[in-house]
Formats: sequence, structure tokens, C-alpha cells
Amino acid sequence: MSKFFDDFVHLKVYLVGRCTKCKHYNELMVHDYGRLPYSKLEDEMDRTNHPIRPISCNKCGTEYKPQQLVYRDVVRDSEVAKVNIDYSNIIDDEKSAAMQEGHDDRFKIYQKREQEFWAAYTEFALEDWKSAVGELMRQEIEAGFAALGKKTTLKSDLHARREVLQKIAASDRRSFWIAANQEFIVGELLDLGVMGWVPIEFAKRYGAARTRFGVMYFPIVEALEDLRTKYIGLLFKRERGDNAFLLRRIGQLTDAAHKQTVKYNKALRQTDEQKHVIAEMQDKLGVANARITELSRQQPAQSRDSDDIRRIRELKSFVGELLAELRAIRPDEPEDIGESPMLDESGTDGADTSNPDLSALEGKTVAIIGGYRSRRDNGDYPCEITTHDGRKHDPDFYAALQQADIIVVLTRFISHASMWEARTVAAQEDKPIHYAQEINIGSILNIVAQK
Ligand SMILES: [Zn+2]
Repeated sequence: MSKFFDDFVHLKVYLVGRCTKCKHYNELMVHDYGRLPYSKLEDEMDRTNHPIRPISCNKCGTEYKPQQLVYRDVVRDSEVAKVNIDYSNIIDDEKSAAMQEGHDDRFKIYQKREQEFWAAYTEFALEDWKSAVGELMRQEIEAGFAALGKKTTLKSDLHARREVLQKIAASDRRSFWIAANQEFIVGELLDLGVMGWVPIEFAKRYGAARTRFGVMYFPIVEALEDLRTKYIGLLFKRERGDNAFLLRRIGQLTDAAHKQTVKYNKALRQTDEQKHVIAEMQDKLGVANARITELSRQQPAQSRDSDDIRRIRELKSFVGELLAELRAIRPDEPEDIGESPMLDESGTDGADTSNPDLSALEGKTVAIIGGYRSRRDNGDYPCEITTHDGRKHDPDFYAALQQADIIVVLTRFISHASMWEARTVAAQEDKPIHYAQEINIGSILNIVAQK
């Protein structure tokens, strides 16, 4: 065992990334391996899973998805690795558990299909013995000779390969091949497990043909097959040979998949960022609207001083601009709102409002947003009543708001978006706006008339 292997290391794992709202960089330590020798750390890492979860911003408190995993060595004060988190590939807990289980059970799974695998693997070698031997290293060949009880002195890889071709009888090839390949098949593929395979390194050390066969046919559980597919793509991308065209195609597909992944991760982050922008604008809009209402109420219109009038005008145009921005970036998010109800025309529904005074509404137009009526006439009401369900911002929606003297919003039945549109028209046109829970027209008008 090398000195390096016994060195101590103290690894800590962090989730890191910029806040999607304020762009502040945050880190969250998610695992501390403690001080361990390298040899021990490998086993520990084998057994440890770092769940990817949202981290919260130290500056603004927003929860967001981290971008990278960072491994730091406390002993050497150095960054050991930084890994991008691929959200298109985030596997749910169930799949992740199945993969871990497959990894832990790898010796059992190998045992079950060992014979069948080695039969196919030797078949592959015997088909083109010379090429197969051409990928063996000297120490592998030594192991092969030793297994057959033959003593040899091998000077180099080249010399060793020549010796195999000259001295191994056709009947001994099978046993020789199995012995010579223990290091690669058992020492690497089996011991590491699919999650730890490094196909490019394997190809450099053990040769492209053997690596390809091993990666493609080594027995593994279903849950790890996606990983195998990824490795096959990696290997074939580098291939030059008879099947170059086909193999390049597979390589391209992996490339395309990679590009898709990058796009996906980027889009995901943009969506998060956009949500914050929208929330912020809605806040600003709310403040501006409240300020307008306040200023409008403070003084009757004719006695407002010119400063107030200017400020109101500025705020109104600010609201208009904010709303235009919001409309442009607002995604079509389904909101949890009830079906628009048919409004109740059965007179007022409370005993104390049995004889309401609606004279204040005489000759006015009241727009009720968030419901619809079964009749088109005014009934016994002294005012004109228009309704819109607020589902779509069609011309009728804006017409109802524009033509109204008084706007009533049924808060239980309209989206935030519709609410904002109504509030904005009310603020810009100086129209009173009321928020109601009930669907009885008599009750609604009574509330409006008393204010
Ligand atoms: Zn932040």
C-alpha cells in the first residue's frame, strides 16, 4: 500500500450557488466525512449519498436550487472537486435507492451471471485472438501463465504478447484469458461498481475493445442501465474504425442529450429568477396602488394641489408601466381559484339588510368581476349591472372595467392577474373598487352603496 494511500484527508461537502433572487453566493455544508485515511475515505464515499436539496440565501432568505457540489479538503485547505448539478438527471429517491441497492448487491448479481459473462467474454477474445492478446499488459499475461502453471520471464508488454501467441496452445486459451483478465473484470469493473467506472481511463489502460465489451456486457441491475448507456456514448464518441459512422452517430446523440441537459438546467434557473422578478413587481404595484388610493382619498379632486396631482400622475404612469412589464413576463400559471359562480338574484340574504337603501347607486354602472348573471335586465336595482367572469382578459373584460362607475371584485373567484388589472383601471381612472366575498347581488350592492 502506497504512502499516499495512508495519508489523512478531511473532506467536507457543500451545496453552492448564486441566489436566484439577489445573486448572492451561498454555501451550505451537507456532509463532513471527518479525518480519515484515503483508504477509509473511499469506502465511506461508496456508502454516502448527498441529497440535493434547496439552500437558503444568507442575504435575502430566498430558498433556491444550488448549482454545484463542492468537495473541500480541510487538511490541505484545497478544493478537491466541483461538480455541476444536473437537474434533468436528478433521480427521485426511489430510483436513487434502487441504484444504491444495485451497487451494494453487485457481488451477488455478478455471481449469478458470472459464468454466462465469462463464456461470452472468452468467445469474444477467441474470435480474434491476436487482437485480444494485443491489449493485454505484461502483468496480466504473467497472471495468465501462472494460472496454467507455466514459468516465464517477460521483458515487456510486447515481448509478453509474443510469448502468448507462441506458447499458449489453442486448448489453453480459455483458461489463460480468464486468468489474465481478473484484474480488469474483477479488480476494476466489479470492485468499483458501475457508479465508479471510468470508461475513458479503462480504455487507455486495458484497450478499447476490452473496455467496450466489459462496459456493454458486465452484469448489472436494471436501475444502473442508464449509467451504462451514458458510458457507451462516451466510449463510442472516440471510436475510429469500421463502424465509425454508426458509432459517431451514437456519439452525436449523446452530445445532443448533453446540450438538451444544459438547456434544461438553464431554463429551470431562469424560471426561478423570473418568479422573483414577478413577485417584486407585484409588490411595487401594490405599494403604488395603495399610495394612489391614499392620495385620492386625502382631498377632494378640485382642491388637490398641483404637487399631488403631479405625483398621482407619475404614480399612475408607473403603475401602467409595471403592469405592462408584468403582462409580458407573467407565465400562464394555473391558480387555485374556484369556478366562476352564477350570481344570486334572490334579494338580500341577511335579515338586517332586508330593506337596503341603494339610492346612492342611482344611474351608476356597477361592474362585478368574478361571476356571471342568469338574466340581462336590471331587475329592481336602481343601477346598471355588468358582469365578467375574469377568466380571460378579452376585450369584454376591459370594456366592463372601463364602462363601470364602480368596480366590484369577487376575490374568491378571480386570479391575481385579473385582480391586478381591475385595481389598475380603478387607480388610473379614479374609480371606487370594492372587494366582496359574497355572490348575492343584493348584498353586494348594499355593501357598495353604504361606502
Ligand atoms: Zn438572495
